[in-house]
Amino acid sequence: MVGNRRRDSKPELLIRSALHRAGRRFRVDLPIRLPGRRAVRPDVVFTRAKVAVFVDGCFWHGCPEHGRPPRANSTYWAAKIELNQNRDRAQTEALTLLGWAVVRIWKHEDPDAAVAAVTATLRCQAASDSVSPASAAATAQATA
Ligand SMILES: [Zn+2]
Repeated sequence: MVGNRRRDSKPELLIRSALHRAGRRFRVDLPIRLPGRRAVRPDVVFTRAKVAVFVDGCFWHGCPEHGRPPRANSTYWAAKIELNQNRDRAQTEALTLLGWAVVRIWKHEDPDAAVAAVTATLRCQAASDSVSPASAAATAQATA
């Protein structure tokens, strides 16, 4: 079976240590409450920047390159993978509505590329923070 272990699988560890080396500090498997649905546990969470990172297993989450269901019981597996994909999408939407930026990384992706994607998103979130009405008002006050 491919990628059955949820936590601390190798690609996740590689990405986490690469982020750590890049000086990024984050929480692992921190549950985020969502109104009206079950909490989600992204693999890596940047609480202040509100960036949630999921490292998705190619098989279970239906990666376009490796997500083919096995020939035996293919209908069963296809349905199961589709359910996971729907849940992934719903979680991403719910988090986005709450102001989170969501980064989804396939397990097969190069950890350095993954770190680059996360870093870009962190910058993006920081930039959008600085133009939020609250901080704009604070800046206006400071310069007045
Ligand atoms: Zn893949």
